[in-house]
Amino acid sequence: MMNNGLLVVLSGPSGSGKDTVLKGVLEKLNGDAFLSVSMTTRAMRQGEREGVDYFFVSVEQFQKCIEDDLMLEFAKYGSNYYGTPIGPVKDVLNSGKIVFLNIEVQGGANIRRLMPEAVQIFIAPPSMEELERRLRKRGTEDEDCICERLSIAREEMKRSDDYDFVVVNDVLEDAVQDVLSIVQKSRNQ
Ligand code: 5GP
Repeated sequence: MMNNGLLVVLSGPSGSGKDTVLKGVLEKLNGDAFLSVSMTTRAMRQGEREGVDYFFVSVEQFQKCIEDDLMLEFAKYGSNYYGTPIGPVKDVLNSGKIVFLNIEVQGGANIRRLMPEAVQIFIAPPSMEELERRLRKRGTEDEDCICERLSIAREEMKRSDDYDFVVVNDVLEDAVQDVLSIVQKSRNQ
């Protein structure tokens, strides 16, 4: 499925700052790379936009997409479903460009099985204390949800060894540079 393009999986616990790292990476790659827009059944957060941050759908719509074979991978995270629509990923890979998937670890494992040639990067926080601080600071989740995300994060951290590369997001610019170097090296191989 890769043709001339490159598929890059980016995983890491909620609060690791992977969205911000990815934003910095995409700016630097300037039109040569795209972020796959996932589908989710979770509620839209303030400031999020339909079709930009996610495609927000009902559980029924999500299930229909799975039945119709429209998903490259999907997983349940907390009480919501998240998945990668297959069409846009194929299009980018066919055009020879880079496509990033910002997905959690079950999705990462599925992609490893389906497309072992994909580059897999795990973005880790400097510590669990820092992760908790970041999650609370961003203020997008209530207390229950923060606790749930921290407990998922502990499990996710155990799976970082499954990834080709682990990048610790302590200083943002350094993490962006690390991901860019990995992508550039993988492209030249
Ligand atoms: P959030 O609710 O914070 O936007 O995302 C929760 C988790 O779901 C994050 O770890 C995010 O990377 C992951 N995620 C987002 N889209 C997908 C997807 O399409 N597939 C999978 N497996 N995980 C996703």
